[in-house]
Amino acid sequence: MNSMIETSTADCHPASAPDYMPVPELRELQFERLRAVVARAWREVKHYRSRLEERGLTPEDLRSLDDLAKLPFTVKSDLRDTYPFGLFASPMKDVVRLHASSGTTGKPIVVAYTKEDVEVWTSVLVRCFAGCGLHRGDIIQNAYGYGLFTGGLGAHYGAEALGATVVPTSGGNADRQIMLMKDFGVTAICCTPTYFLHLIDRAAELGVDFKELPLRAGVFGAEPWTESMRRHIESSSRIEAFDIYGLSEIIGPGVACECRRHQGLHIFEDHFYPEIVDPATGEPLPDGSEGELVLTTLSKQAMPMIRYRTRDITVLLPGQCECGRTIRRMGRIGRRSDDMLIIRGVNVFPSQVEAALLEIEGTLPNYQIILTREQGLDQMEVQVEVTPHMFNDKIGALQGLHQRLQGALDHVLGIRVRVGLVEAHSLARSEGKAKRVIDRRTQ
Ligand SMILES: [Zn+2]
Repeated sequence: MNSMIETSTADCHPASAPDYMPVPELRELQFERLRAVVARAWREVKHYRSRLEERGLTPEDLRSLDDLAKLPFTVKSDLRDTYPFGLFASPMKDVVRLHASSGTTGKPIVVAYTKEDVEVWTSVLVRCFAGCGLHRGDIIQNAYGYGLFTGGLGAHYGAEALGATVVPTSGGNADRQIMLMKDFGVTAICCTPTYFLHLIDRAAELGVDFKELPLRAGVFGAEPWTESMRRHIESSSRIEAFDIYGLSEIIGPGVACECRRHQGLHIFEDHFYPEIVDPATGEPLPDGSEGELVLTTLSKQAMPMIRYRTRDITVLLPGQCECGRTIRRMGRIGRRSDDMLIIRGVNVFPSQVEAALLEIEGTLPNYQIILTREQGLDQMEVQVEVTPHMFNDKIGALQGLHQRLQGALDHVLGIRVRVGLVEAHSLARSEGKAKRVIDRRTQ
């Protein structure tokens, strides 16, 4: 948290200049770009043109940033319905990259980049890394998956453009990750927070102590995580953990990232215009209100996104960050409206379970939620790993822990759930995004 370090390294990166733009100037730039992107979408993409026409709108109806709220939303199914190239605004000869989601059902969603789009993507990642205090001379291990998933290549280009040394390990093979981290003197890692937890566990088994390594920062994203998880990560590895946010539909990782103040994630709003809407009605909400994040790309060429509903629940934080950046911040995303489970009529988010578990001594942040239906009634079981010494201890200690967990979960969730204590390392580990919920209710 040394501001001298920040000023001497992060803030001086030339790519970071827009982070400090005077707000009126920024709003002007955003409006100019918004008009251009809507005009482009109208001209080049049939889908957008007909959506606007249905409402009797043309790009000329945009007279201020507030008018954006008149435009229709874009939702994930629009990407599926226009699969594969229906939302492209550039001819294929100008598209230099395609990425696709690993759709679990049906067709994936496809996203496209022109050369300029890749440059913008790279520049926002440079701003992310610089904001985390990383710079030339850092050795960044990039354990996000390379391939159709945007995480790996996105972070890679950014770290390289920053001037850092990139170790492109991609996901998987924990033992090799740990060996290279140690042997190469890696100073920062990019991966999902749950994968880093897995690396911490595995390193301990291999006799490697992360606290002894030069590793000093982790840039974690691609899944929601909690403040309790951050505390756990930081105390067990002595690194500074940063939250990075992004989604393929908008560009990939690099839509927003924490700075060293860790007071929300700065949105690179000269490229991605944020709104918060009521998830039920779609009505825009003022800064400071919690709701669904909606993003509009302001500079994307190949595939502009107009008012894309992210399903992520957050808040635009009022006021300016102590770091001096003028771009707005959003609260960390603890939950997605898609993640919400409805158990016997009660709304439950896996992040609530995680936060409750991490508050209790003797448990590990590895858990799984199993949903079943018995005689027409939803049942939820939380299986949680406990530290090895708990199992070696007397049975009384386990019973006490079981009761504390039961009490904490009942309190947080407001419904009775079953608690199952399992031995450390008995739950399946994810190499990428954690699979927290197993829903057997339909079977
Ligand atoms: Zn800041």
